[in-house]
Amino acid sequence: DGPVQLAPIRRLDESVVNRIAAGEIIHRPSNALKELLENSLDAGATSIAVTVKDGGMKLLQIQDNGHGIRTEDLPIVCERFTTSKLTEYEDLSRIRTYGFRGEALASISHVAHLSITTKKADSDCAYRASYADGRLVPARPGGRSEPEPCAANNGTTIAAEDLFYNIRSRREALKNAREEYSRILEVASRYAIHNSSVAFTCRKAGGPKADLCTPQASTAIANIRQIFGSKIADSLVEIERADADLEAEFRGYVSSAVHEMHKTVFLLFINHRLVEHTPIRRAIESLYASILPKASRPFVYLDLHLSPANVDVNVHPTKREVRFLGEDGIVGLIVDSIHKAVLSANNSREFALRG
Ligand code: ADP
Ligand code: MG
Repeated sequence: DGPVQLAPIRRLDESVVNRIAAGEIIHRPSNALKELLENSLDAGATSIAVTVKDGGMKLLQIQDNGHGIRTEDLPIVCERFTTSKLTEYEDLSRIRTYGFRGEALASISHVAHLSITTKKADSDCAYRASYADGRLVPARPGGRSEPEPCAANNGTTIAAEDLFYNIRSRREALKNAREEYSRILEVASRYAIHNSSVAFTCRKAGGPKADLCTPQASTAIANIRQIFGSKIADSLVEIERADADLEAEFRGYVSSAVHEMHKTVFLLFINHRLVEHTPIRRAIESLYASILPKASRPFVYLDLHLSPANVDVNVHPTKREVRFLGEDGIVGLIVDSIHKAVLSANNSREFALRG
C-alpha cells in the first residue's frame, strides 16, 4: 500500500456555498411557506391565499393584499441581508416584525425559481420580476433582467417553483407530496388561528375547493372550531395571565379534562412567531399526563408575549426553537394557569351535574 492520496482543498464555488446555506434555512416547502406568510403579515396583509402544486415542490404561491414592494427595491430584494426591517444590531432586541435578517427571499431564490409580482396602492401598475441565485433574471429567454410592468391587484404575489431543482438529494428526500402538503396546511392553519383578523385560504392548484378558508375579522376560537371541529373547540377553556416581574403575558385555549384526542396539538406563538420550546411543551405534557385519561392528549394554543429584550430568536437558522430569560418562572406560571383553569372548569361541571 502506497501513501494515502489526499484530495487537495479547494474553495467552493460561491453559488454552491449559497445553496448550502439556503438549504439550512429552507429544509422543505413548509419552511418556505412560514417565511413567506410572515412577510405577508409584516406587510400588513388582511387576506392571504396559498396555492400549492405537488406538495409545494412544483409550486408554492402566496398572494397577499399587503403594502407591496417599492419598484426601485425589486432589483435587490432577493440579495442576502437586504431587509426593510432592521438597520442596526441593537434593533434585534426590539424587533417586532417577523423577519429581520433579509435571508428568506435570498435563500428561496438559491433553491427555487422565484418570481415576485407586486403593486403598491399608489402606483398605476404592478411589476413582475424573476430571480435566480439572489439576482434578477429575464422572465423569458432572451428577455431583459428587469421588472416588467403588468396588471395585478394591490399587494404581493410570490411564487416559488421547482423547489430544490438544483439539490437532487433534497428532492429525493421530499417525494411524498401528500406529506408535504399536510405540513403546509398545518403551518397555514396555525397562522390562521393566531392571526384571526386576517383571512386565509390554502388550496391545491386546480383543486375543487380550498382546504383551509378562514374569514377576515374572525376570532381564534372560531378558527379553531372551523379547523379542528366543534368537539375540540367545545372542550377548551380559556387562560389568561400577566406577570410584571417576569415581564410575561399570555392567553390561549387549552383542553379541559373531558375530551378524546389521540395526538397532542400544541400551537405555541412567542411574540407572534410560531416556535418550538421544548421545556414548555414537556411541562404541559406532564401536567396533562397527570390529569387526563390515559389515552387522551391535550390541545394547547398559547399566545405568549415576552419582553423582546429577553428573547433570543437567533439561536437557530430556521428561527424555530427560541430561548428566553426567566424560563423556569414563566414555565411554572403557564403550568399553574392551565392547572387552575382545568380544575375550575371541572368543578363547575360537577356542580352543574349535582345541581
Ligand atoms: P426579512 O423579512 O428578514 O426582511 P426577507 O428576505 O423575508 O427578509 O424579505 C426581504 C424584504 O422584502 C423585506 O424586508 C420586505 O421589505 C420585502 N418583502 C418581502 N415579502 C414581502 C411582501 N409579501 N410584501 C411586502 N414586502 C415584502
Ligand atoms: Mg422575511
